[in-house]
Amino acid sequence: MFLFSSPALLPIGATCATIEPDRIEIVPIFSKPVGDEMKTEQCPECGSELEVRETTPCMECGTLPDQVELLRQDIAERYAHDSVEYCTYRVFDTFELTLCDSCAIGIGSYRPEYFGLAGNRRLGFEELDLLKRITAPSLGKDKYCPECKKRVAFIDVVLKVRECNAS
Ligand SMILES: [Zn+2]
Ligand SMILES: [Zn+2]
Repeated sequence: MFLFSSPALLPIGATCATIEPDRIEIVPIFSKPVGDEMKTEQCPECGSELEVRETTPCMECGTLPDQVELLRQDIAERYAHDSVEYCTYRVFDTFELTLCDSCAIGIGSYRPEYFGLAGNRRLGFEELDLLKRITAPSLGKDKYCPECKKRVAFIDVVLKVRECNAS
């Protein structure tokens, strides 16, 4: 899309691996000042160019269009039906994940290595430590990796969890 559209062309020295992944900005060198829409950001997991998508609070399925529409409807009806519930959980004693009820229940479907777990150990629903239920959930925006098919909010937590479980 832009000067550094291919990951192979990224100026290695120009990225800042030491700063927070969500702050990484690739600034084209030979160009006029650019607006926000011209900046490219990369997935912290696979390096693909990220998109900005509308999302529900669920870090897992939040960007799915039907989930966004469901919540939009809920908000319009002042939560009369409360179609989907969202909760923030603590995992591995340290990290926080906000998930809808069905993604929370489905967390055990990830292969052990996705969360850096050894052997057959999986992160089970019973290991999600409920911190809070979100009242009046709203729509927001997040960066999304079309390759990993995940929100960056989720990828960021997973990368930290993996690092922690590997040590
Ligand atoms: Zn979900
Ligand atoms: Zn990715």
